[in-house]
Amino acid sequence: MKKCQFTGIIVRVFADSGRAADENPGWGSRDRGLLYVLREQRPETAEATEAFRRTGLFDVMKLIDDYNRVIDYVRISVTDRCNLRCRYCVDGDFPFIPHTEVLSYEEIIRFVRICASLGVRKVRLTGGEPLTRKDLPHLLKEIGAIEGITDISLTTNGVLLADHLEELKEAGLKRINISLDTLRKDRFAWITCIDAFDRVIDGIKKASYAGLNPIKINTVIIKDFNDDEILDFVRIARKWDHEIRFIEFMPFGDMSLWKSTEIITSREIEEIIRREFELVPSLRPGKGPAKVFDIVGGSGRIGFISPVSSHICAECNRIRLTSRGMIRPCLFSDVEYDVKALMRSGKSDEEVKEFIRGVVKVKPERKLEMGAIRKCQRSLRNIGG
Ligand code: SAM
Repeated sequence: MKKCQFTGIIVRVFADSGRAADENPGWGSRDRGLLYVLREQRPETAEATEAFRRTGLFDVMKLIDDYNRVIDYVRISVTDRCNLRCRYCVDGDFPFIPHTEVLSYEEIIRFVRICASLGVRKVRLTGGEPLTRKDLPHLLKEIGAIEGITDISLTTNGVLLADHLEELKEAGLKRINISLDTLRKDRFAWITCIDAFDRVIDGIKKASYAGLNPIKINTVIIKDFNDDEILDFVRIARKWDHEIRFIEFMPFGDMSLWKSTEIITSREIEEIIRREFELVPSLRPGKGPAKVFDIVGGSGRIGFISPVSSHICAECNRIRLTSRGMIRPCLFSDVEYDVKALMRSGKSDEEVKEFIRGVVKVKPERKLEMGAIRKCQRSLRNIGG
């Protein structure tokens, strides 16, 4: 790895670079590749592209941070509004953002287009509750059509899912994550403060019939609230052939329920499951932070996401865009960068691109501060979960 002195981009130099076929036959293709880098251009002809690709220098178009992590994934919160009031996510001190402060669809699309030109391939829409925002399928479709974006997905609480499934599918949605923390109607009403359990279950079933499989269900396990349902969730994974992803309870939001004593680690959850079920590393592990297992003798899968107990920062490939238009390079750091102000002040795509590059470069190496995770000021509703 070498840093390009003009652009500050990390350049991966390959020893076996071939020869470029076009106008400067005396040049090695690595030199030609560097030229494209310095001009920040993509090669224009198919031959030039191929010559460039052979050099390995294609990589320099990517967003790479100071710890050599390639950022190719953006999670976008399209709204801070939510139709549930989950006790661990509500945040009395942070009222809803005025509509004028929320990024417009045009601004989100522009941001994704610029990120795609920097190598971002994957986008997830989240919130707040993304389905409470009008015309979400339109946004999905527009993002899906951006050159370079190969994967677009949605995280939802499922309450409005059944009503929007057809449009979402038509807009190109192929994958979905649905949040559900309990299989008991009374507990659902208590934790979310809304009586919508049946609608969520209906949404999950309809999404499955509509072919958005395998459906991933995100479940936050909280001591003395739903830790007695861990095995019920595994049975549901087998019965419905879904992936249940147990997420450790994270320290967000000043007003919320979180206390370190209420965390149950992935390891503890896994131990409970293994008393009754045999788990083997999945043949389809996926690329994200989840450690995924198949359940021996049945369908469905179990994933563990351990942001609190394990060190997944070295593999982190993402940045977040909040509904307020701030880039948040690390979920666990409250430091955010205002890209909305830049876009609204008439800056060019090139200037916004430079800004994004700069933000990625200062992405913290690890989430731990002084050896411990500190509680983040805002809830995930504000950040985008
Ligand atoms: N409304 C959508 C939903 O419910 O999926 C998207 C936003 S929500 C903030 C995204 C996810 O964050 C949900 O699965 C929720 O359970 C999770 N979440 C919120 N606060 C959390 C916390 N403190 N620890 C772990 N997960 C949390």
